[in-house]
Amino acid sequence: MSSSSIDRHARIFVTGHRGMVGSAIRRRLERGGYTNIVTAPRAELDLLDQRAVHAFLAECRPDYIFIGAAKVGGIQANNTYRADFLYQNLMIEANLIQGAHLAGVQRLMFLGSSCIYPKLAPQPLTEDSLLTGPLEPTNEPYAIAKIAGIKLCEAYNAQFKRQYVSAMPTNLYGPNDNYDLASSHVLPALIRKAHEAKLRGDSEYVVWGSGTPQREFLYVDDLADACVFLMEQGYDGPLVNIGCGTDVTIRELAETVMKVVGFEGRIVFDASKPDGTPRKLMSVERLAGLGWRATMPLEAGIALAYRDFLDRQAAGRPS
Ligand code: GDP
Repeated sequence: MSSSSIDRHARIFVTGHRGMVGSAIRRRLERGGYTNIVTAPRAELDLLDQRAVHAFLAECRPDYIFIGAAKVGGIQANNTYRADFLYQNLMIEANLIQGAHLAGVQRLMFLGSSCIYPKLAPQPLTEDSLLTGPLEPTNEPYAIAKIAGIKLCEAYNAQFKRQYVSAMPTNLYGPNDNYDLASSHVLPALIRKAHEAKLRGDSEYVVWGSGTPQREFLYVDDLADACVFLMEQGYDGPLVNIGCGTDVTIRELAETVMKVVGFEGRIVFDASKPDGTPRKLMSVERLAGLGWRATMPLEAGIALAYRDFLDRQAAGRPS
């Protein structure tokens, strides 16, 4: 690993720049003084189209790529659109990784998720637990696609001496999140539900499942900082987790959201909805060993996310 930083004029391609992850990476790069950030709107570049992706990369020849683009969603979306999650994620990563290699791109960062680890792997989840047991069924298609992406990176590194790094973020939240109740993750869903319950003057709000599953939440700007940190460090080692190292139960989360939003009713649990995996706390030892730690406390991060939600509503942007 070298300590050299990236040239501020290097060409850096950020995919998924309109999404929560890609937009955060772009913000972080801009703040870091990078002047040559390339993005491609979906209307101009369909990441599912192999020819288009390869042609774009051959023309653009970026020095670095951050793969922030993916088909993502919460427990219900993952469980319902199983073919879409498997197919689209396989295509996006295969097109980008092979296209990057063909275009001579030496450094790339691929992002996955903590759901790649076996459902009952020992907690906190270390990177070494990959492929040691069966996956959580509700998001198995997404996880399989992301595991294939990790293996693609490893294979290009082994066969072609590329430096394609896989980083696995825990559950993320923050600006540009998806607040659609049918497809979102739990945190944006609870922000929206609590806010709407407050406006309606309801006495309760509905939280899916039993409230007992535990989840770790990382503010997306912390994730972006970790990604740029790894790239700037020249990290080219094995798979690395990106988390904050602590988790909460869904009940605790629901209570914190109520506090931030100012909704004073009570929580009702909907047992007809799945709990998913009981716990997925990541080990952040590897990343801490490299010198990076998350800084955003959960309640402060939820307050910022709520502010973003309100701004989007005020601006009439789709949630
Ligand atoms: P997961 O981490 O892949 O399971 O995805 P989610 O973020 O969608 O769900 C996390 C946990 O929150 C699960 O146990 C859900 O049942 C629970 N949950 C509670 N209320 C909601 C909700 O309104 N939306 C979502 N997506 N999950 C919820």
